[in-house]
Amino acid sequence: MSQSLYIYNTLSRKKELFEPLSPPFTGLYVCGPTVYGDAHLGHARPAVTFDLVYRYLKHLGYKVRYVRNITDVGHLESDADEGEDKIAKKARIEQLEPMEVVQYYSDRYHEDMDKLNVLKPSIEPRASGHIIEQIEMARAIFDAGLAYEVNGSVYFDVKKYNESHHYGKLSGRAIEDMQAGSRELDGQGEKRHPADFALWKKASPQHIMRWPSPWGEGFPGWHLECSAMSAKYLGERFDIHGGGMDLLFPHHECEIAQSNAAYGQDAVRYWMHNNMITINGQKMGKSLGNFITLREFFSGSHTALDRAYDPMTIRFFILQAHYRSTLDFSNEALDAAEKGLKRLLQAYETLKHLSPAGSSDTDHSDLAGKCHTALLDDFNSPVAIAHLFDAVRVINAAKDGKTKLNKEDLHNLQQVFHTFLVDIFGLSDTFATQEDQAQQIIEGLMDLILDLREQARRNKDWETSDKLRDRLRQVNIQVKDGKEGASWEYTSDA
Ligand code: ZN
Repeated sequence: MSQSLYIYNTLSRKKELFEPLSPPFTGLYVCGPTVYGDAHLGHARPAVTFDLVYRYLKHLGYKVRYVRNITDVGHLESDADEGEDKIAKKARIEQLEPMEVVQYYSDRYHEDMDKLNVLKPSIEPRASGHIIEQIEMARAIFDAGLAYEVNGSVYFDVKKYNESHHYGKLSGRAIEDMQAGSRELDGQGEKRHPADFALWKKASPQHIMRWPSPWGEGFPGWHLECSAMSAKYLGERFDIHGGGMDLLFPHHECEIAQSNAAYGQDAVRYWMHNNMITINGQKMGKSLGNFITLREFFSGSHTALDRAYDPMTIRFFILQAHYRSTLDFSNEALDAAEKGLKRLLQAYETLKHLSPAGSSDTDHSDLAGKCHTALLDDFNSPVAIAHLFDAVRVINAAKDGKTKLNKEDLHNLQQVFHTFLVDIFGLSDTFATQEDQAQQIIEGLMDLILDLREQARRNKDWETSDKLRDRLRQVNIQVKDGKEGASWEYTSDA
């Protein structure tokens, strides 16, 4: 922790020195998925982004408590507290219990995350398991005079809150502008101001997910779960809160208001938001038909995909852009990511087999330092990756005998590649494994061919024996006959 980490804080709109409340401990809360469908590319970006944050904080020596929730109740179809609960709707269509839907898609989400090599959070709380905490928080806000009840629903009084606080300080929106776009729909009519949001909603007779509360049977508003669960597991004040930029408003703006109303202070010290992924320059959306799930990427089954892509390619594609930049998906971009990742992993493999020279032509001892400098600057993964690519050129030149690397440099490069590629960027060497398999097949085939050739030689069938040798030579394989039998090696001077 001797190094200074700078994090861009969405709230202050500038990079700030990371100074945790109680080092070496630090808390990280990230908004997880609403589990009513398979995870798509838009879910992969926050997952990979905050996996990098989590891994790097740990690498720096922090003891990180990473909380990533699962939303299983209260997320309605519209952010304006309108429409059906997303999970209840899916359950109705599929004729399942809502919790069956939740279990099914949570399991699949976890499988997808494992494939992306995203580490599991320390705690993964579900909204439905924290109804009491949410009622308590709603009550605290109510008691502070910043919420009101209408027909068994409780709404946050944004206008009143804004008299003493600043609602909109995260998103930069003004509540005067929030009038526009609001509609007098179900529930909307109960609100005193269009910017008000539900802390608790009365359950209609057909609503399945319902709990008793001081205001009658109902269910919590979507924004309340993250405030209640982060307070429970990380404290009323904690270090980092992350999520996608699409959650900045209203979700995170509401979280700020709730914490201030209930606990009298901002809960979060550093707000981090990853930018969005576009698909061929277009926003992703169900109606646009370009919602590609991770499973479709891994199998290549979506019509927009030329082929299947390895999860590590998706992960590397995300890490190749800085998390605050937009990232545009295309088949070409993924092809390029795959090529780049292979180059890195092959160089890492090459390192293991290079024999050291007596001396080095140039000094490579600062590579780790350069990579750290990039990551300490608001997790700038593309710059760190660019430094690794510089090293790849040196490694490949050493392989071709065009430059020299001594023992110390080789060892250092190996360590840096392991630390950054494997530990911090979480890129497992699936490709290298695939190549190992290919190598095993080649070795098996060569054993067979050399056996056949040995048999031919024993039978004094020199024609077949020579033919096998010559044909192998055409594909750059040289057979050597020795006392211990025949052996083979690759040769480039065929
Ligand atoms: Zn959240």
